[in-house]
Amino acid sequence: MNHDQLRQYLEFYQDIGITTLYRRGRADSLAVCLPPQSPQPDALLQIIQDIGDCTRCRLHEGRNKIVFGSGNTSAKLVFVGEGPGADEDEQGLPFVGRAGQLLTQMIEGTAKREGVPIVRDDVYICNVVKCRPPGNRTPEADEMEICGQFLTRQLEAIRPKAICALGSTAVKALLKTKEGVTRLRGQWHKWNDIPVMVTYHPSYLLRPYNQNAKREAWEDLKKVLHYVYD
Ligand code: URA
Repeated sequence: MNHDQLRQYLEFYQDIGITTLYRRGRADSLAVCLPPQSPQPDALLQIIQDIGDCTRCRLHEGRNKIVFGSGNTSAKLVFVGEGPGADEDEQGLPFVGRAGQLLTQMIEGTAKREGVPIVRDDVYICNVVKCRPPGNRTPEADEMEICGQFLTRQLEAIRPKAICALGSTAVKALLKTKEGVTRLRGQWHKWNDIPVMVTYHPSYLLRPYNQNAKREAWEDLKKVLHYVYD
């Protein structure tokens, strides 16, 4: 691989949220360990290019950074949230604020307890809308519709073994239902033939009066991890 190709690779992985790569061997060699090249990264790169400096809906007006997604582009498991908050908008990465820290704890804590050898970087995480709604309001129907085309392409490019829908916006976008999370959680549903587990959004779990839901979310996650990784 020449220097130009290497630079393109690194820029691509940075765009999709991979910011740490490890070098093996001698420090003066170019033996950078990149995730294997496969059709999916190209498809994701194409989606990022198609999104471009998007102005398709009003959410672009207050946006700092487009938050496309992050993690393993060949992941067997994808988490879909609602939309970026302030921290995500600033960093261009999904789930890096308080809710994100809880999501990381949930993934890694459950995996460890259940003997599933994964960390957050092994899964892929994205949102229904890629720009922060003002004041963290819920995305509106037309915003979800416009951005939804990119979510569809993203999920089709990765085609994970399962998807975990976090909260009601992800549920609406993926399952096209108005049924609430409380009724749908803990059971398998389908999105384009891919099993979908519904669970609570981490932000909901951060509220002190929702501690029962936390236990349920842990149960949901246990199901997902065993289904995907056993
Ligand atoms: N909430 C979301 O739904 N997504 C994020 O990326 C952060 C918080």
